Amino acid sequence: MQNGYASYTCCHCDGSITFPVNGYSMDRIQLPLCRTCQSWYYNLRFKPTPYTKKIYLDLKRRGFRVVIEHFDGHKSVDIVAKDAMVHIEVDGSQHNINGELAIRDLWRTYYSYIDGYFTLRIPNSAVYNDLEQTSRAVSKILEENRKRTRDINKTNLYGIQRRLLMALVRMF
Ligand SMILES: [Zn+2]
Repeated sequence: MQNGYASYTCCHCDGSITFPVNGYSMDRIQLPLCRTCQSWYYNLRFKPTPYTKKIYLDLKRRGFRVVIEHFDGHKSVDIVAKDAMVHIEVDGSQHNINGELAIRDLWRTYYSYIDGYFTLRIPNSAVYNDLEQTSRAVSKILEENRKRTRDINKTNLYGIQRRLLMALVRMF
């Protein structure tokens, strides 16, 4: 703040960034990223689509702890809401038209489920048509699943059982 610039926040690491860095990053990447996270972004094999970026930033604005282009060791997920245990995939029409891709998506959904994550698929068209409505509906789902996840972890050992099951599934 000493240099007179308002402070902005990097959406990826929550570090503070200056006005010019924010402007540069918004112009080129459409995400407010610090220099380090800009390098991370440029090195990504698959870049998030404009639709993914839009809904991600809107969920951030709503206070959700979400991560964009998260690599979980097996696959890259468009957006992960860790405390809600939800994977969000923002899909183009090819996911409906291309049968092979659709089946691959089903298996991804299955493996995420084994890991305890619910997969929410959002068509690009929803984001394009009405970001506000889309984001509100997604927020409701995240809130509900966050509550449910908390209840489950509080009341029984399901979390531990799930992790054991996951480890077993990965072994075979
Ligand atoms: Zn950063």
